[in-house]
Amino acid sequence: EAKAQGRNTLCFFDPQMQATASARSLLEADLRQALARSEFLVHYQRLVDADNRVLGAEALVRWQHPQRGLVPPMEFIGLAEQTGLILPLGRAVLRSACEQLARWAAHAASAHWTVSVNVSAHEFRHPGFVEQVLAILQETGAQPALLKLELTESLLLHDVEDCIAKMQVLRSRGVGFSLDDFGTGYSSLTYLKRLPLDQLKIDQSFVRDVLTDPNDAAIACTIVTLAQSLGLDVVAEGVETEGQRQFLLNNGCRCFQGYLFGRPGPAEALLQP
Ligand code: C2E
Ligand code: MG
Ligand code: MG
Ligand code: MG
Repeated sequence: EAKAQGRNTLCFFDPQMQATASARSLLEADLRQALARSEFLVHYQRLVDADNRVLGAEALVRWQHPQRGLVPPMEFIGLAEQTGLILPLGRAVLRSACEQLARWAAHAASAHWTVSVNVSAHEFRHPGFVEQVLAILQETGAQPALLKLELTESLLLHDVEDCIAKMQVLRSRGVGFSLDDFGTGYSSLTYLKRLPLDQLKIDQSFVRDVLTDPNDAAIACTIVTLAQSLGLDVVAEGVETEGQRQFLLNNGCRCFQGYLFGRPGPAEALLQP
């Protein structure tokens, strides 16, 4: 696609491309309007320990579209990133998640729950990112130590020094960092050692066939061992069956997320066992 190749690329227009381009600008206008109308909402999916006790939740954005119903993030996050709309959208998600943290903090049963928020490359690279996170924590009264920001390997590969500097400022206030979809990117072990991370998330693509594909099993176990060696927590994502959970547990993983424990849903659903 032309845009992906850069703005100065010359190319011929075919009708298919034109259809795609106009569908995109429609979606972009729709996204802008959705932000103005606050049509985005945040669902939460639990993270549990080896005894299935809730440790916290991941905040996952959804678009409550007036005609299309609940639209999953894969259908709009990419465009939101390309258009810069991810900045106001990401702020709205972070604010909701921090407000939720403050609500959980008010009840003994949920006072220790963490919230994990996905941060896209565009957001993290924005010069005002650190100040914005600190401002939202302050305004919502959420405890920084209960907030985890989920970054990806590709995001961290670009300008590592700047990433480390930003992470260190937030970390000095207590904010934690998780490396999402781990194993699917290209992080070098040299970088991994230097990044001030707290947690690795084993990507669900390795968990899916962990019982049937020896390569996936080897990768999942290696990530657990790597995390342990680096002193990081490790979470298995996309756990759907008791067999997968048992295998990961037997191989040292103590934290899980997946449909087996609960699908993403409204925050209130986390209070139900
Ligand atoms: P992710 O951060 O890796 O989130 C995990 C995804 O796996 C979620 O999809 C979740 O619903 C799904 N999932 C959880 N358990 C299972 C399972 O057992 N089986 C399967 N097959 N899937 C499971 P979702 O909510 O559609 O989000 C997709 C991606 O969109 C996220 O992947 C994340 O990269 C991005 N995303 C979601 N919310 C936000 C956000 O607020 N900001 C940004 N920048 N990205 C977001
Ligand atoms: Mg995530
Ligand atoms: Mg993930
Ligand atoms: Mg992802």
